[in-house]
Amino acid sequence: MTGRLQGKSALVTAAGQGMGRAAVLAFAREGARVIATDLKPELLAGLPAGVSTRQLDVLDDAAVQAFVEGMAAVDILFNCAGYVHQGTILDCSVADWDFSFDLNVRSMFVLTKAMLPKMIGAGGGVILNMASVLGAHKAAPNRLAYAASKAAVAGFTRALAVDHVKQGIRVNCVCPGTVDTPSLGDRIQAFADPVQARKDFVARQPMGRLATAEEIAETFVYLVSDESSFMTGQAIFVDGGMSL
Ligand code: NAD
Repeated sequence: MTGRLQGKSALVTAAGQGMGRAAVLAFAREGARVIATDLKPELLAGLPAGVSTRQLDVLDDAAVQAFVEGMAAVDILFNCAGYVHQGTILDCSVADWDFSFDLNVRSMFVLTKAMLPKMIGAGGGVILNMASVLGAHKAAPNRLAYAASKAAVAGFTRALAVDHVKQGIRVNCVCPGTVDTPSLGDRIQAFADPVQARKDFVARQPMGRLATAEEIAETFVYLVSDESSFMTGQAIFVDGGMSL
């Protein structure tokens, strides 16, 4: 059976663990030639043969620029890197705010700006951005900088999509609910009562469970494949009903 991404090349950021890694595995399974990048190269170990790996800090503009200059256009760019700052505006320093926007939004701007001319030159491509149900649709307590930055991802996605639709570029973002990934586990452990914290995270989804990274990755495959060829500028919620 031919994979849905046969013959395509894909670049994934933050691919060492969580949804970025699940995306790499799903894209490779579907036949894509994948370049998996992460801040921490040790996390890129153990990916299937055929996946190329590369250390890349998406906050390092010069490194991102040099990396893209040295490569051919990709068909698929997945901007996955991001992080959660917890707290209200009163808990959020200017440095916290800046870091949230730098990692969650500015990094997408820098990498996309570098890669897009190559994609246009190659006749088109697909860009997928990582947003969240928080910010892109609803708020939750103690997520001020996170929600604001993920809302910006949805706006960035729409603006990019409308500007480049006539050049064969499609751009969408995914808005997951709560996904069982290593960083979520770390955040749960940081609570005074981790058992209760996990129950609280589960309760946010009417489905009564967390998502797995693998099931969210099936939506990534759909959005970067030709199955979604008439879709651009959209924020797609995969959230166990959290946005309802
Ligand atoms: P994770 O947070 O467990 O892993 C994040 C990865 O990003 C790590 O491998 C880390 O090394 C890498 N990384 C961190 N800083 C980096 C940098 N400067 N450059 C390159 N890589 C860097 O994975 P996750 O929970 O799947 O989160 C991935 C994305 O999904 C994030 O944008 C996050 O905001 C978003 N998201 C997560 C959830 C969730 O519940 N887990 C829900 C919605 C959205």
